[in-house]
Amino acid sequence: MKKIEKNIEFLNTLANILSKKLSPVNTMTTISKLFQKYLDTEKINFVIWDNNNMLLKDFVLDYKFDENNQSGQINYSFTNFALNKGTNFYFNDTEINCETSSEDIIQIEEIKEETNTILYPLISNGEVFGLIRIITQKENFNKEYFSLLNIASRLISGSIINYTLNEQMEISLNFYKAMKDIAKIIESQYELSYIIPLIGEMIDRFMSSHLIYVFIYKDNKFQLVWPNACKDEQVYQLLTKLSSESEYILSSDNKIGIFPIISENNLLGAIAAYSNIERLLQKDIDYLSQLTRQSGMTIQRANMYAEVLKYATLDALTGLNNRRQFEIRLNQEVSNSKRNNTPMCCMMIDVDYFKKVNDTYGHAAGDCVLRNVADIIKAEIREYDIACRYGGEEFFIILPQTTINEASLVAQRLRKVIEDTKTDIKECNIDNVNYLKVTVSIGVCAYDTSMDAAETAQKADKALYEAKETGRNRVIIA
Ligand code: GH3
Ligand code: MG
Ligand code: MG
Repeated sequence: MKKIEKNIEFLNTLANILSKKLSPVNTMTTISKLFQKYLDTEKINFVIWDNNNMLLKDFVLDYKFDENNQSGQINYSFTNFALNKGTNFYFNDTEINCETSSEDIIQIEEIKEETNTILYPLISNGEVFGLIRIITQKENFNKEYFSLLNIASRLISGSIINYTLNEQMEISLNFYKAMKDIAKIIESQYELSYIIPLIGEMIDRFMSSHLIYVFIYKDNKFQLVWPNACKDEQVYQLLTKLSSESEYILSSDNKIGIFPIISENNLLGAIAAYSNIERLLQKDIDYLSQLTRQSGMTIQRANMYAEVLKYATLDALTGLNNRRQFEIRLNQEVSNSKRNNTPMCCMMIDVDYFKKVNDTYGHAAGDCVLRNVADIIKAEIREYDIACRYGGEEFFIILPQTTINEASLVAQRLRKVIEDTKTDIKECNIDNVNYLKVTVSIGVCAYDTSMDAAETAQKADKALYEAKETGRNRVIIA
């Protein structure tokens, strides 16, 4: 093949690869192979300037970054030169004038020969934002080779910039989604033990570069409430500086940020963002401040609800009796049954694989399902049966004056109706999903006069456990 045709083929193939939406790792691996084939390179790396940390980092390795193992993943192997953003950079102690015009390349050519290395700037809007480093044979160093590299580097620059912009856009979208999700919880939830992990998870998902910790301020000290452990001493030191008048506090290297959760001048807690690699950018700080403010409102509201609900009898999400009321009613019905020697039954209902619903469609969709199951229960039982929300996705029904045969019919009917009913989740705005279906497992038991209320509940629970063990979506009679 003629040289010129080979060059055109190279550029076409390159453009083709860049137009595909592959991951950075896949794109760069493919490009490496292409450079090997057409430009006879032994090795090729892409390094980009990290504004945040004022360091060069490997573009590909950076995006391989493993959230679970924060350290040791970023490769800073290019420490023998530093790139001053947009102006000059250094290679092996030689200053290279890399002014923002395209003439840059000429100077770079001068140092390549003794090292077999070509450094080629990646440029966007006249600013150098990174380098391509190529190791190749000396005989390749000619004008034609460089003009080809020039076009290739421009194509690659555009693609990297595009990728980075897309990532930033994704971050903004995630932020608005996190805000919306927290607002949703405000509307429907009041149990702090349930809310805090949700807030933690949402902020954590959004801030992938930092570990997130949620603390509650109680009895004049901070208690970690999410996740289970925080081993970083610096976080605790910074926490001691917080007061109800505080704004956020940053560590001296800007890698740790503490954001106080304040509501009506009360210090309720704090959200900490921690990393030993990445600094917090102003943008991150703005996002975290807003998310913390939003969380403060949610927590304040939950505290108020909890206060009110101490005296209430109904569950706020489903409108069924709450757990407290359940205990009272079960005791009453057990003693009625004992006194009058009348039959009584109980059933415990648990939604199957409910965690999956939350994980796949979000907690708002999970809440819709819970409300829907509760509505079906209300519709299917008699007026003097007592239905309660026992826990997260667990319900309990007390059936006074009911034999075990009747109770088992009710349970079978409930199970079937729930299996056949679609829950409308359109309001949750999940792409292409308007309806969900779930099943439940049910444990039914008859009260016998030798038992007390707690033992009766345990018996239903045991039957439910058996229903789960033997395959779910079924009724087991104790
Ligand atoms: P199994 O079939 O064994 O019952 O599996 P499961 O996934 O339903 O069981 P598990 O008990 O592990 O999951 C219950 C989930 O219910 C976990 C919790 O996050 C969720 N949950 C608890 N309360 C609420 C709530 O008020 N709203 C929503 N959306 N989810 C809740
Ligand atoms: Mg459960
Ligand atoms: Mg369940």
